[in-house]
Amino acid sequence: MDQNLVPVLPVVSAFLRKEHGLLVDGTSVQARAGGRIEVRNPATGEVIASVADGDEQDVEALVQSAHRAFAGGVWSGLRPADRERILLKFAEVIEAHGEELAQLETLNQGKSIHISRAIEVGASVEYVRYMAGWATKITGETMDVSIAVPQGTRYTAYTRREPAGVVAAIVPWNFPLMIAIWKLIPALAAGCTIVLKPSTETPLTALRLGELALEAGIPPGVVNVLTGRGSRAGQALASHPLVSKISFTGSTDIGKTVAHAAVDNMTRFSLELGGKNPMVVLADADVDKAIQGVLMGGFLNQGQVCAAASRLYIHRSKFDQIVEGVADTVRGMTLGSGLDLTAQVNPLVSSKQQQSVCRYLDIARAEGARVLAGGGKSDRPGYFVQPTVLTNVDHSKTVVREEIFGPVLVAMPFDSVEEAIQLANDTPYGLAASLWTNDLSAVMNLTPSIQAGTVWVNSHVPLDPNLPFGGHKQSGVGREFGRTAVESFTELKSVCIAH
Ligand code: NDP
Repeated sequence: MDQNLVPVLPVVSAFLRKEHGLLVDGTSVQARAGGRIEVRNPATGEVIASVADGDEQDVEALVQSAHRAFAGGVWSGLRPADRERILLKFAEVIEAHGEELAQLETLNQGKSIHISRAIEVGASVEYVRYMAGWATKITGETMDVSIAVPQGTRYTAYTRREPAGVVAAIVPWNFPLMIAIWKLIPALAAGCTIVLKPSTETPLTALRLGELALEAGIPPGVVNVLTGRGSRAGQALASHPLVSKISFTGSTDIGKTVAHAAVDNMTRFSLELGGKNPMVVLADADVDKAIQGVLMGGFLNQGQVCAAASRLYIHRSKFDQIVEGVADTVRGMTLGSGLDLTAQVNPLVSSKQQQSVCRYLDIARAEGARVLAGGGKSDRPGYFVQPTVLTNVDHSKTVVREEIFGPVLVAMPFDSVEEAIQLANDTPYGLAASLWTNDLSAVMNLTPSIQAGTVWVNSHVPLDPNLPFGGHKQSGVGREFGRTAVESFTELKSVCIAH
């Protein structure tokens, strides 16, 4: 037996073999039309499970379940302290099942077990605990008003934040468990009920999360899980008039489709969309730290990270040193399954994503890019693409303009700070950016002019539940994390009392 390969837990094997249905009203129910969707292991391409292919009729049942639970007050009617206590219990349950969830995610999504353990599970558990606390801290305001009629009448006015209602949480495939939790827990803290729709590529941990919610004591019907194709089930969910709030993470194109569907019903929505995030390295930056930053910011989860550093702008004086440093490191990386503890490069999520990234690499070559490292897929089975560094590119090139969502970096030198910021902002996206310098004045002067929802200084990609996260420009609408996220699952009511 290979000592480096994590043995799959029996509970994980048993979960894979299950005839998974949709989670409706706390019960697993098969799709009415009976369709199934195959789930694959990206490290091998093999089918490892199947899930129900929900359609419009199934969506109706799920939304009605969430609506009944909301209207019946089984969750929103609890004392905030009871919601908080149950959410803290949910964190405990997720933690107790952490290895099982991490293995399921690695088997389904492809990422390293180290990342599944530390981020999909570890960071998510912290996030649940953080958000649980908000259940007891939702507040309105009192305000003085100056209403003059009828003469002599006095008024007292205040606002209340009330749960929005049924939430549609639509999640992509890159961090399936974590992003589901990002949406679920603030919505639950606010008192909402939910229909969670994972990506067709990665539905397994969402289904398990739904079961664990019940185990933690969240009443049936409060968390419902819809598996099914986005173009059908996802579209029906986003268009449903009983959905009060849509929280979507995914591509900018589908985000716009979802927003159009939402507007027809005046459904509230928040969108976390794509990114083409710049990393700007000034002349004084620490070279080793910048190289480490590129490796982490650019290649984490094989670059399938919305906030990944995918465009590098490096001062000409440091360009060769940093780019060669990164290229040297990635050339020596070992490829392997996410369950292989020593593998440094894991597969992309799907054959479709592998083909999409390889198509960008073909375009890059045709447009004259220089491939400094990587440059294509590997010949082993599974959906592997070598970590790739491209130079000799500029803003007229497709690979500089479009989001690739894979392990591909484009690196460009700059001569002046003004030029670097102008290039960093020259994109329709605005999710995140990083600035690498030890010059405090440069940090304070440049940060306001960077068009991005998050700007990191001397790091790239760390997130915290208390720090709002979301996009400028085509990278989205609204923010996740912190108070903002909880409030986004509420409606504001003004109360004005004459006395
Ligand atoms: P997609 O936009 O293709 O899908 C996202 C989700 O939407 C999936 O669950 C998908 O279901 C569903 N969906 C598809 N069509 C519709 C529809 N018409 N109506 C409602 N739902 C629909 O994104 P990917 O899953 O391919 O994820 C990658 C993208 O997500 C990247 O562009 C990346 O930048 C972005 N992303 C952004 C993040 C952020 O925080 N800003 C974080 C992570 C990813 P199905 O899979 O069944 O098609």
